[in-house]
Amino acid sequence: MPEVAVDTRVCPYCAETIRAAAKKCRYCGSNLADSIGEEMVTAATVSKMASELAIMRLEKEIEELQEALDVVKGGGVLLTFASFSMLAGFVLLAGGSAVAGIALLVIGGVLLVPAGAIEKQARRKHRTLQEQLDERLAELEKHRAALEGRGQDTSGAGAK
Ligand SMILES: [Zn+2]
Repeated sequence: MPEVAVDTRVCPYCAETIRAAAKKCRYCGSNLADSIGEEMVTAATVSKMASELAIMRLEKEIEELQEALDVVKGGGVLLTFASFSMLAGFVLLAGGSAVAGIALLVIGGVLLVPAGAIEKQARRKHRTLQEQLDERLAELEKHRAALEGRGQDTSGAGAK
């Protein structure tokens, strides 16, 4: 979307950018006094819509990032299970249950390496996701601030 100064609007007849206060288009000569209103798309309205759209998009992205973060946070569960399985294996072995103890030790041992790798990967992903989330949140804040600032400008211009 092209950047347009706030005090301009688009002529509904020839689509040229003209001053917001103009009663007559300087390009096509159309009388604009009657059309100031609904059909007049002011530059301020266009950029307000752009901000609102950006906010909607950012809110969706933030929601998705937070969901992804929750999934990543669950990445440590397998490592915990593998460790617990090995521990239980030792306890059973010490208690005289050789077959069950060895079985749990084997399960835990087999799981431990991939579980560690998954956990490590999850931690790295967690950091990246968190960075992205922070970026989006900052961007959202900027758009909201811009929208509020513009809202004051528009009401000020409308009161004249
Ligand atoms: Zn015109």
